[in-house]
Amino acid sequence: METNICSYCHQPLLPQYYFCPNCGNKINSAPLSTTPLSQVGIYAFSIILPMILFIFITRWPGLKYMKSSDPKTKLIGQIAMALLIISTIVTIWLGVVLTQQMIQSSIDSINTDFGSMGF
Ligand SMILES: [Zn+2]
Repeated sequence: METNICSYCHQPLLPQYYFCPNCGNKINSAPLSTTPLSQVGIYAFSIILPMILFIFITRWPGLKYMKSSDPKTKLIGQIAMALLIISTIVTIWLGVVLTQQMIQSSIDSINTDFGSMGF
């Protein structure tokens, strides 16, 4: 049950309040943002974080190329970085698509099961 009274100062509250307007104490956790911008942000972060970890854990040689002062060597490093980013995105995209297909096909099979049972 949601309490509509502040547990700190016992003032009445509206359910949509996240902070008590009387005493300023935090009541509820604010809901996580689901705007397109926050979605892009969380997805981008999810893609980039493993990549950064991968680069540092494996001591990815592309980094040395990118830091090079020689333009040609640097270009090789940048191409390698682009390939790494593309392959990461493709891998994640495939993972998302396959997962959605798997969920969809299991939903379909559940529906079919119910259908054959006469619902
Ligand atoms: Zn309060």
